[in-house]
Amino acid sequence: MADRIANFFVVYWSVLKPIIEISILWFVFFRIMIFFEGTRAGQVWKGIFILVLAFFLAQKLGLNTLDWILTKLFAISVVAIIVIFQPELRSGLARLGQPHLFGTGLKAEEIDELIHHLSMALAYMAQRKIGALIAIEREDRMKTYIDSGIEIDGKITPEFLETIFTPNSPMHDGGVVIQGNKVTAVSCLFPLAQNPYISHTLGTRHRAALGLSEETDAIVLIVSEQTGLISMATNGRLTQGLSREDLSQNLKSLLIAPSQKVAPAAQV
Ligand code: ATP
Ligand code: MG
Repeated sequence: MADRIANFFVVYWSVLKPIIEISILWFVFFRIMIFFEGTRAGQVWKGIFILVLAFFLAQKLGLNTLDWILTKLFAISVVAIIVIFQPELRSGLARLGQPHLFGTGLKAEEIDELIHHLSMALAYMAQRKIGALIAIEREDRMKTYIDSGIEIDGKITPEFLETIFTPNSPMHDGGVVIQGNKVTAVSCLFPLAQNPYISHTLGTRHRAALGLSEETDAIVLIVSEQTGLISMATNGRLTQGLSREDLSQNLKSLLIAPSQKVAPAAQV
């Protein structure tokens, strides 16, 4: 039996090998395209793809001048890519250099309390159309953005968050940073999103939330002053119009580490 299986592989391996290779390459390429879809990097990747295609066509069809130009272009494209992707490379390297080993560093009960307080505060502010921008730090450190605002050390309570964002409060402008179960900075400036496809109806508060979520793995929550809608930005994507329950559910799945997700006790 083992011999037959071995024989099968010897005979068919030369056929299987390219199929497996192409499938893996296609899967990797597809994932990269999905990851960059709609971002600045996505447009550049499309450009690179067209150039590579033109290069192969030029070679196959013997178009020597075009082939020569494209070969030269590829040589300088390495430098061009470093320049174009400088912000992405910078934030990627920063992520590598400053990992938080334990996510938010909170226990499951503390995360539950944090989610409860946040959802209460956001629902209250949404009802009254009080604009808010709150970033929850996860693995990536937020030091750069904390430095752009005012450092504080406040316990998270719905009342405290509402007071911060109440119009005319000296701290209502800009974003709040949450580390663990503390508010550690207010009036912070977040980076505006680079995504060229963002709807024109979104103003700078939403763009700053998206921008921060592009540059870091933070969860960014927004209450719109104009519409009273609650939104959440993660990984450069915005989910708008969340109910309080949706918000709690989303935060739970994002904040509770797999090891903390204990299966509920079986009912007797
Ligand atoms: P809303 O729906 O609440 O009106 P919006 O997305 O339309 O939000 P704006 O109306 O432009 O955005 O909101 C302006 C407010 O957003 C500012 O007063 C400020 O508090 C906040 N904001 C703007 N840019 C930034 C930034 N880069 N970082 C942090 N907060 C910012
Ligand atoms: Mg606005």
